[in-house]
Amino acid sequence: MVNKERLAETFKFLVEIDSVSKEESTISGEIKKILESMGAETYVDSAGDKIGGNTGNLIARFKGKTLAPPLLLNAHMDTVEPGKGVTAVFSDGVFTSDGTTILGADDKSAIAILLETMTILQENDLPFGQIEIVLTVCEEIGLLGAKHLCPGKRDKCHFTGKQGYC
Ligand SMILES: [Zn+2]
Repeated sequence: MVNKERLAETFKFLVEIDSVSKEESTISGEIKKILESMGAETYVDSAGDKIGGNTGNLIARFKGKTLAPPLLLNAHMDTVEPGKGVTAVFSDGVFTSDGTTILGADDKSAIAILLETMTILQENDLPFGQIEIVLTVCEEIGLLGAKHLCPGKRDKCHFTGKQGYC
């Protein structure tokens, strides 16, 4: 079952980390730590160098427990401006910003849901095929991260999954 409080906490944690386009390295580092603590193999590609950002796309792979077809799940880490110094306000079951910035629900709600989903799968020991999570940079300024996505080390620019959700 979805743990609503945990999901809300994750969401608040994510939105309060500044991550305007080209400045996603802090949030990427935090998400990478979380994903690795859950057992994922992670990789940051070189998109950041190509687009003048401070980090690349973050790719995480969870080994499947079954032979179900691999699945790719995508969201983006950057936000629009004004996105620095976000304070999340939770009232009547709804998150807003404090009015001085955007909230960043686009797209951190998706990232929070992805993290909650992986947590639920693991804590309930549910079966799943390989899952590749792709968190791109610089989506808001023209999908730049996605355009320079290279999900593997060296020349292996391909994903295992034939199906994905963005
Ligand atoms: Zn977006």
